Amino acid sequence: MLDRSFLRWPFFEARHRALADELEIWAARHCAHVDHRDVDAACRELVRKLGHDGWLKHTAPGDDPSETIDVRTLALIRETLARYSGLADFAFAMQGLGAGPISLFGTSAQKACWLPKTRSGAAIAAFALSEPASGSDVANISTKARRDGGGFILDGEKTWISNGGIADLYIVFARTGEAPGAKGLSAFIVRGDNPGLSVAERIEVIAPHPLARVAFKDCRVGADDLIGTSGDGFKIAMTTLDVFRTSVGAAALGFARRALAEAANRAKSRELFGAPLSELQMVQGHIADMAVEIDAAALLVYRAAWTKDTGAARVTREAAIAKLYATEAAQRVIDAAVQIHGGDGVRSGHPVETLYREIRALRIYEGASDVQKIIIAKAALSSAAGR
Ligand SMILES: Cc1cc2nc3c(=O)[nH]c(=O)nc-3n(C[C@H](O)[C@H](O)[C@H](O)COP(=O)(O)OP(=O)(O)OC[C@H]3O[C@@H](n4cnc5c(N)ncnc54)[C@H](O)[C@@H]3O)c2cc1C
Repeated sequence: MLDRSFLRWPFFEARHRALADELEIWAARHCAHVDHRDVDAACRELVRKLGHDGWLKHTAPGDDPSETIDVRTLALIRETLARYSGLADFAFAMQGLGAGPISLFGTSAQKACWLPKTRSGAAIAAFALSEPASGSDVANISTKARRDGGGFILDGEKTWISNGGIADLYIVFARTGEAPGAKGLSAFIVRGDNPGLSVAERIEVIAPHPLARVAFKDCRVGADDLIGTSGDGFKIAMTTLDVFRTSVGAAALGFARRALAEAANRAKSRELFGAPLSELQMVQGHIADMAVEIDAAALLVYRAAWTKDTGAARVTREAAIAKLYATEAAQRVIDAAVQIHGGDGVRSGHPVETLYREIRALRIYEGASDVQKIIIAKAALSSAAGR
């Protein structure tokens, strides 16, 4: 039985507890047996179901101008879905990240055109920032957008694009050249069926998800497809990541909770040396370390989410700490779960083997762990300055 006592922490309100209870039932029914053999079809189906049953409405605000994204809700949904299926979590998360620049910086017309579709599951979203020569070094983006008549023409290439190949909507960051580096980027809405957009390569990874390298050649977009002001692209990307980075920590937390549940069940049911494995103190030591790391990760994830929801303009430091700790801790927790399972832990398709593959990319994308450390160190050094 999963320990759900964390839902009584003061970070949460009654609506969060109600949502967590409802989602638990939904996820057990719809996400426990996702077929990963055709990830595109599985992902499309998950987006459809998540939209149909109302979960995607939490990924972007609705028509009411007072509505905002609630990061605690995002985090609760991601950790719950991740506990059942990495692909279900991915399908949910990308609708939020992909639509994020529009929900945070879009015009009323852009919001009215796209958000009802991403919230209902009618349109699949992608966030196209990384390039072959600029992953961590975002300011080095070379995809260009030049003004042409009333609009822009995009040329270049993006890689590692989640939902690449199946997305209806890509948010593409390109160089418009107002200034060198980070200050010369802008964000554009590009429709998946734009004739100037093509999939150059489908990328296969250790935990399969729809992923592609996407090429833009004479890709024409309208002036009304520019998000915010030209030159604001870097700010738009970083602010969006600031909101969604905490939820990456939440997904890692969900993976870690599942790993602990699997390890505890195994330790109690496996007989070794005439007694259950769980009676060996070294195994208990692993279980204790897992439980401590999970609670610490949860505290940091929900601290960051609560800080954002209760009015902080930016949570760069808190989100970086949450993502760094939760993803690194989840890797250790899952590794311990594999160890407790012995040979079965590396058997293809076993839940802990799947978790072992699923967790790895979370320490790389939306800012690698090393990059999070730089953000945290900068904040610590600047708050210590002058004392
Ligand atoms: C499964 C998956 C899904 C992804 N989805 C998307 C997506 O939807 N949209 C998108 O735009 N991108 C996406 N990415 C790309 C991802 O954001 C990049 O892979 C990531 O930013 C790292 O960039 P890179 O791969 O070019 O590695 P590099 O930038 O070459 O970095 C390699 C390593 O160097 C180290 N490093 C980097 N910078 C520093 C530093 N300043 N100090 C110390 N060490 C450092 C880190 O360990 C890093 O892992 C995805 C990646 C993966 C693996």
